[in-house]
Amino acid sequence: MKTIRQVRELIQPQMVMEGAGVLLRRSIAPQISNRFDPFLLFDHFALNDPADDPIPGFPMHPHRGIETVTYINKGRVDHKDSLGNAGTIGPGDVQWMTSGSGILHEEMPFRDQSGVIDGFQLWVNLPAALKMKPPRYQEFKSTSIPEAEGKGYRVRVVAGSFDMVNGPVSEIAAQPVYLEVALEPGTEFHKLIPKGHTVLAYIYEGEGVFGEDRQCESVILAVFGDGEEFRVQAGRKLLRFMLMAGAPSKEPIYPYGPFVMNTRQEIEQALLDLQNGTFVRNGVE
Ligand code: FE
Repeated sequence: MKTIRQVRELIQPQMVMEGAGVLLRRSIAPQISNRFDPFLLFDHFALNDPADDPIPGFPMHPHRGIETVTYINKGRVDHKDSLGNAGTIGPGDVQWMTSGSGILHEEMPFRDQSGVIDGFQLWVNLPAALKMKPPRYQEFKSTSIPEAEGKGYRVRVVAGSFDMVNGPVSEIAAQPVYLEVALEPGTEFHKLIPKGHTVLAYIYEGEGVFGEDRQCESVILAVFGDGEEFRVQAGRKLLRFMLMAGAPSKEPIYPYGPFVMNTRQEIEQALLDLQNGTFVRNGVE
């Protein structure tokens, strides 16, 4: 008998303004307590009101010591950075950006023709040994993100694996699992996840029973306790959630805005580097 991971905590996303005034649903944000190690932040940009206003976006800003993962359902995000990279993250695409020692980048969200934008940004911590390595991008178009499909379920595999289908994102320190899961009413879903890894599910449509008996309804972030198997059964409507799992690095962290380092001194160094124009030190690997 596998031990089932039970829901330990439910987190109601809070509305926040970020960047130049982008309205977001934020579930978690970096904190010294590092309770969701290796995950630091989870944002859902899905709220655009009034729909005919332009979305202000995220003008040039730095990152150091983390990975930012952008996954788009609808609309797009145009991206460019200080190293000369530029591109568009469209529906079904993912960008897994490992900032390492640092990049400066701009992220500009745009609605699709029906006036909608919907997507997620996840931040994953880098262990101390990798925080000052060169930045690295892994970008995949929708067509190169494989799907596992079966009776009542459809799973897009961004990172990790499901049903022998492997996600394209590789060589990430946290050994992450990142899946977009859609379950028809009543469908059961199981996934083995190594003991000791952190598991979160962001439920953004429908409802279901998570773990043995916890009824969860969208929109909510469910945090799971330890165990061997993640389990859910969809309720009476289509259930959609993002499943995240990863190995904690179990190091102290010191977050400050777009930087997450291990000590306060390293944050001070990042700010000094920005002032001195020495922040971007490594090209993309
Ligand atoms: Fe950013």
